[in-house]
Amino acid sequence: MNIGEEEQDIVIVGGGICGLATALALHRKGIRSMVLERSESLRAAGVGIIMQPNGWRALDQLGVAPKLRQTCTEIPSKGELRCLKRMELMSTLAEALPAESVHLGCRVVSIVTDPVTSDPVLQLHNGTLIKAKIVIGCDGMNSIISKFVGVNPPKLFSRCAARGFTYYEHGHPFGDKFRVHDACGVALGQLPVTDKLAYWFLTRSLTSQDLSDSKKDPTYIKQVSVEALKGFPEKVVEMVKNTDPKALYLTELRYRAPWDIARAKFRKGTVVVAGDALHAMCPFISQGGGASLEDAVVLARCLSEKLKQADNESGDGRKKLTEEAMDLYVKERRMRVFWLSLQTYLIGLTLDNMSKMKRVLGIAGLILMFGNQKSHTDYDCGRL
Ligand SMILES: Cc1cc2nc3c(=O)[nH]c(=O)nc-3n(C[C@H](O)[C@H](O)[C@H](O)COP(=O)(O)OP(=O)(O)OC[C@H]3O[C@@H](n4cnc5c(N)ncnc54)[C@H](O)[C@@H]3O)c2cc1C
Repeated sequence: MNIGEEEQDIVIVGGGICGLATALALHRKGIRSMVLERSESLRAAGVGIIMQPNGWRALDQLGVAPKLRQTCTEIPSKGELRCLKRMELMSTLAEALPAESVHLGCRVVSIVTDPVTSDPVLQLHNGTLIKAKIVIGCDGMNSIISKFVGVNPPKLFSRCAARGFTYYEHGHPFGDKFRVHDACGVALGQLPVTDKLAYWFLTRSLTSQDLSDSKKDPTYIKQVSVEALKGFPEKVVEMVKNTDPKALYLTELRYRAPWDIARAKFRKGTVVVAGDALHAMCPFISQGGGASLEDAVVLARCLSEKLKQADNESGDGRKKLTEEAMDLYVKERRMRVFWLSLQTYLIGLTLDNMSKMKRVLGIAGLILMFGNQKSHTDYDCGRL
């Protein structure tokens, strides 16, 4: 992008799952947007992503589900359950967008409100200023857009997660089952992507070394993961040992407290947030990505309904309708993401090995409020 000043209608900050899905949802409604992504290429940290029925409903609305279904095995379950390659998901979303929608290598360093027009103004790392009518912050956990709208930053959780892909030239021995092995505070989940590719994730207590540069070193990730698996079935230990080093990630877990989600504003003027920027949560129910796709569908639906009415409006009338659309979106999403974050928060309490009290509270909360622990997958975000 050239250095200078420019004006845009809708700017989406962040070209991850949520940013791309939001741009696509808007595009399907005939609304143009510009995605700014700080990385030089689409970034798919974490290799695999479990997609549950609610996520597939959103992908159906975005029109990309049929293509994605061809890339991964269906896992027998109550509803549609598959593990997608993250990169496949991101490139499918990006390819469905008009050319030049996504601007790579564009890091937003600040956002302010124009004192005259009260429109948001974004500053990029190279000094470029972009004045936008609407800004949608899909910039993940450490979102500068959610800081601008006044949301508390996510908190660090006491566990971390390693994830990887293991390729089996002659097919893996796991069939089409999703299995979780659990022992001594370590949980290892393992499921097929295809007949030859298995995805696994491992959660364990966080150490200070996990927060250092070691977390980017595949040798370190593999070594500590294998050490954590003492006593686990040999087949799964071998799977971790044989992981492709380029497909190995270690992440500390962060979450936004459910009470922050219940009361935060999520919108300031014509700036709003979606995806992890709104509902950062620990991955215990594998819903952050699915919920981000739902956000995209609901936000585009709310915006397109109101913007249709704005055709004959002046600047102020249009702004008012935009704010109303964003408030409708926040209202529709708040309780959905509150319950998701509460469920993951309670599961997190049950994993606390320092406090028996917290574990009891977590178990009691889950029994009382989440008798059906899978009901979050029944959610339908509705038509785009
Ligand atoms: C260990 C783990 C396992 C998970 N497993 C699952 C799962 O199985 N199923 C599931 O549904 N969810 C899962 N999740 C959650 C899921 O990964 C996230 O909810 C999802 O990736 C959120 O997408 P996003 O687009 O909001 O954020 P991100 O994927 O973080 O994308 C944000 C994008 O914004 C860009 N960006 C950030 N700041 C700026 C800036 N200033 N300027 C420009 N660009 C910027 C980043 O480079 C990035 O590309 C898991 C999460 C973790 C940590």
